[in-house]
This record gives sequence, C-alpha cells and structure tokens, in this order.
Amino acid sequence: MTSVLPRPTDDPRLVNLPEAVRTQLQDRFKLVATPGGLSTSGSLPFNQETASPPRVQTGRAIVSLTQVEKIYPNGSSALVEANLTVNQGDFLFVTGPSGSGKSTLLKLLYGHEQPTAGNIFIDNQPIDKLRGNRLAMMRRRIGIVFQDYKLIPRRTVAENVAFVLWAQGFTRKEIHRRLWPTLKMVGLQAKAQCFPDELSGGEQQRVSIARAVVNTPPLLLADEPTGNLDGDNSLQVIKILKKLNSIGITVIVTTHDEHLVRASNHPVVQIKQGRIHHLRH
Ligand code: ADP
Repeated sequence: MTSVLPRPTDDPRLVNLPEAVRTQLQDRFKLVATPGGLSTSGSLPFNQETASPPRVQTGRAIVSLTQVEKIYPNGSSALVEANLTVNQGDFLFVTGPSGSGKSTLLKLLYGHEQPTAGNIFIDNQPIDKLRGNRLAMMRRRIGIVFQDYKLIPRRTVAENVAFVLWAQGFTRKEIHRRLWPTLKMVGLQAKAQCFPDELSGGEQQRVSIARAVVNTPPLLLADEPTGNLDGDNSLQVIKILKKLNSIGITVIVTTHDEHLVRASNHPVVQIKQGRIHHLRH
C-alpha cells in the first residue's frame, strides 16, 4: 500500500532553506512513499563492497529534445530549433559563451522551465507535460549541481547530504548506508562534521555533488559546477563527475571553460545564440 506525504509546504523543516533547495525538497516530499520509507530504485553504487552498479542499458536515449524553442516572457530567445539526444551512460559537455542558453537547456531538462515549442523527453517521459506527483517522481531521478553550491549554511556536511534522504522518508539505516560511501566518493569523510563556511569552494562543491547523487539518480545535471573554482579544484570536480559516469550515471555538464573541455575526450555540444552545434561526438 502507498501513501502520499502530507502538506509539504507547511513542513517546518523546510523553512529558511535556500529557494532552490526548498523547491527540490518540496518536489521530493510530494513523492509517493511506502510506510517503511520510500522504496529505492537500485543500490547505491559507491559502496563497492555491498552494492552492484546501477543497471545501465547504454545506447538508449535518456534525454531527447526535438525542435525545442524557448522564448522567455520578456521576449528573450534562449533556445532555437534545439535537437539533442543523450544516451544512457553518456558524458556530455555543453559549452558556449555567457548568455548563449546553457542554463536554460538544463532548466528545461529538469522541468524548471517549459519550452515554447518542441518536445523534451527524459527517460521516455515528456517532462514538460508532467505535473504534480509525476513531475516530482521524475525530478527525483535527476541530480542537480549548481555553480553556487546552494548548501544549507547551518547544517554540517553530513546533514546537508543526509537531509535529502531524510526529507524523502528514507530510514535511518538506509541513510547511514548511503551517506558514508557517498562522502567517501567525494573525499569528504573527514569533513563530515564541518559546516559549509569551514570548507573551501572546491569542498563545498563536492558536498553539493554528494547531495545530488546520494539517492542514485540515473541522470546528473551540473550547471557550471566549476564556475567559482580554480584550475585544480575544477579538475577535481570533473574527475568526480567522470567517476560517477564510469559507474553508470549519465552526466551533462555546462561550462564556458574551454580548457576543461579540451582536457577531455567526451562529446561536446556548443550553444551559440540559442542554437546547438555538435562539436565532438
Ligand atoms: P547561459 O547559461 O549560457 O549563460 P542562459 O540560459 O542563462 O545562458 O540565458 C540565455 C538567454 O536567455 C539570455 O539572453 C538570458 O538573458 C535569457 N534569460 C535567461 N533566463 C531568463 C529569464 N528568467 N527571463 C528572461 N530572460 C532570461
């Protein structure tokens, strides 16, 4: 038997959170929960001892955009006739100058913005047409990393990461099982009890990656994750994203840093004035 978690917007646990985190969690509160906690899809992939990697059917489209156009209400044209297919297990860089439409593309993929024309399918579902619980369910399958981390200031590293699971109704045991391997995967076990303002920018970004993937989403979207970081920290973040990709998570990362793109051999698309160009397959 299933039940729907009650009245997410009234929950005092969500007060004072950054807007983006609150929206994400509110969506997740709307999920259908089982009495013993939410059922989870697949095992945590970071604990090699206890879990097997997620089942990945490579070659199957997980993201598909057909003739997508996005014009904002003020008339700004952000995407024009955009066509893009990303297969399960891919790692895709999205480059382009500031204002070219990179963030808009990601916002369309996680249903934060709606296209003005065209179709967007995530895992064979038309995300732009999903509402309510179905949209919340879909968003649960998409991890998101932002340039400015969006951590909860007065929560420790461990709490920031565990909070997502706790808000979704995971049991204490399951939270514990997922938390430590995830912190280990981003190299932050020793900082688990630190607060965000006690961390470097690179470390904060690694916390936000841990938070994005702790519930093992098949798709990870990272919007300029290295935008505030120096060269070394940027490379470290990309290395973690590649590690996640190697265990089966599809990764789409936007960056205007040509250096990072050149240092890798992954596929690249460039957005120029809202148009998507395939630079490297
Ligand atoms: P990028 O991520 O490449 O910097 P964006 O996707 O943020 O680019 O923006 C693409 C275009 O859409 C820009 O011209 C920008 O001004 C416009 N834009 C982005 N968000 C909004 C919005 N909420 N309202 C109106 N225009 C927007």
